[in-house]
Amino acid sequence: MLDQALERYFGFTGLKPGQKQVMEKIMQGRSSLAVFPTGAGKSLCYQLPAVLLPHMTLVVSPLLSLMKDQVDFLQSRSIPAARLDSTLSAEDYMSILDRAKKGELKILVIAVERFKNERFRQHLKQMRISLMVVDEAHCISEWGHNFRPDYLKLPVYRHEFGIPQVLLLTATATPRVMQDMCVRFEIDRDDAVVTGFHRPNLVLQVSPVPEADKPRILVKRMLESREAPTIVYVTLQKTAEKVAQNLADAGIEARAYHAGMPNEQRESIQNDFMSGRVHCVAATIAFGMGIDKKDIRRVIHYDLPKSIENYSQEIGRAGRDGIESLCEVLANKDNLNILENFVYGDMPEKQGIAELLGLIAANAEDELHLSPYSLSGQLNIRLLPLKTLLVYLELEKIIESRSSYYSRYSFQPLKDTRDISSAFQGERREFVRAIFRHSQAKRTWTYVDVAAVEAESGSPRQRVLTALEYFHEQGWILLRSSDSMDVFQIVNRRFDQQVMTEKLYALFKNKQVHEIGRIHLVLRFLQSNACLSFNLARYFGEIMPEGSCGMCSVCRDERSATLERTKKLPSLSGRDKLDLLAGSAEFLGREASPANLTRFLCGVGAPVFTKLKASRSPLFGRLQNHPFARVQEWVEKNLPEIISA
Ligand code: ADP
Ligand code: MG
Repeated sequence: MLDQALERYFGFTGLKPGQKQVMEKIMQGRSSLAVFPTGAGKSLCYQLPAVLLPHMTLVVSPLLSLMKDQVDFLQSRSIPAARLDSTLSAEDYMSILDRAKKGELKILVIAVERFKNERFRQHLKQMRISLMVVDEAHCISEWGHNFRPDYLKLPVYRHEFGIPQVLLLTATATPRVMQDMCVRFEIDRDDAVVTGFHRPNLVLQVSPVPEADKPRILVKRMLESREAPTIVYVTLQKTAEKVAQNLADAGIEARAYHAGMPNEQRESIQNDFMSGRVHCVAATIAFGMGIDKKDIRRVIHYDLPKSIENYSQEIGRAGRDGIESLCEVLANKDNLNILENFVYGDMPEKQGIAELLGLIAANAEDELHLSPYSLSGQLNIRLLPLKTLLVYLELEKIIESRSSYYSRYSFQPLKDTRDISSAFQGERREFVRAIFRHSQAKRTWTYVDVAAVEAESGSPRQRVLTALEYFHEQGWILLRSSDSMDVFQIVNRRFDQQVMTEKLYALFKNKQVHEIGRIHLVLRFLQSNACLSFNLARYFGEIMPEGSCGMCSVCRDERSATLERTKKLPSLSGRDKLDLLAGSAEFLGREASPANLTRFLCGVGAPVFTKLKASRSPLFGRLQNHPFARVQEWVEKNLPEIISA
């Protein structure tokens, strides 16, 4: 049955490793987990069963833009598939939902955020779904490398919508992450299918290099073969710029790429690299998703990778054509702090957690409207951990998400607003006038005071938004919505605030310890005394039958790399350091908690620093070469004395 459908729908003549096993599990009515490297054909594992299963397959993906090609591909094969994304018109959106409810769609692709919307969940309840597919499924595990809080709720939704089977897809999962995924989705461990991590054409190399020598070594490496397509990975945006500049100074054309650059520029660099006009890109990890260039000959880690999963994914972009390619890490221990600081910056303070719980308990209504963005500042918890915290509260059955909406609307007029009003008559004209009367022009955008329009016109909010959307569709204004608000229902207020604070705090602490441990695993891996390829595969649960690759730097040199700190670790004693602490405490004023002081001195951002313009203070980041944990201990020890002085 599978073979026939394979030919008929996809025109493929055979299956790739693992595909048959996974599909058979699904056709036997079981749930499964597929861990295959990128490019190994995970999508087909659901696409083929989807046409054979009685009802619809619901595909959940973190990046809808990447799913566009898949949906186009399915449609070109006459498989009824659709994607719900935010660019659809209301009409198209409804028509897709309609087809899904009538059972006309075989595959529906959505972004995970879609579940937050209660109305969408109501629609889902009216659909018959055979299979839920979760792409990039490692995001569900807090022990994985790309945890997405929203994913944690997927098992709950699966039950809510009575979806009998699930298929999880990922390219990177350690045995622990696999275990976690299987438990959460009730998948039998025997139904997990793992294939080939080992890529025999990748030459793994660890080169111990003092920090100061890195630019020179990199230039040397590039000169060995100038035109070989190369990605140089760095941790910080400014390093990407610096590295590209250093290479340019040495006459090697290279471009920087990071998330701080405008989209068009990023796109053009990516295109130039793909087409071979540019041979070298110095990039942060923002460069990679969707890069499917077959002949990348070198992936050089200028800084330590964040985790072994990251490393594996990043080097996995090299040599897709099967030709030998170099994956080199220029390594020392100097920048360990920078990696650790990302983790420490994500740790909420107990006080922030307690404040949120207090806010919920004291909320007069059962409905709770939160703006994650402003709440982040208020509680001094970064956006990602805040979202995690809100999901924890949902899993604790304290709140339940209802919907989300934008609270701020602004526009740029593309036509005189008086002319827009004149296009209407009678009451409608008055209504449109009220909208513009209650709009305030700032530098580029004009902000609509929706509440004021509601109050004056007596019309519901929805009418105001519909009108604005209409003006936008007519090309009269350029409309923008911002400040997303999440709406929750409070389902339990009678929890013990203190106990719950401790419990949630412990969850975050545990995560932090794990994340720091993950960085140290990278160090251990790079200093392996056995074959690097073997160790890498083993990390992902695969035992390389050959035992060693014979090509990596350990196999070749017959010894492990030893990484050192090449810059001396400065000391934390002396009067001047105490003065620095006192000055920082004074600068932070009311916000001078030990946690904030440590972050401030280590140069780690915190939401409350924004309004204090902390990063512009000459004291900010003055201890950034010290390990965070040491600074924290030192602050906690010396702060009482400073305060009493
Ligand atoms: P992954 O999600 O694992 O990274 P994809 O599912 O995107 O990989 O598949 C990569 C490519 O392999 C796609 O172009 C797909 O059409 C192709 N492919 C998948 N399965 C087969 C097969 N059995 N025979 C031929 N090509 C296949
Ligand atoms: Mg894929």
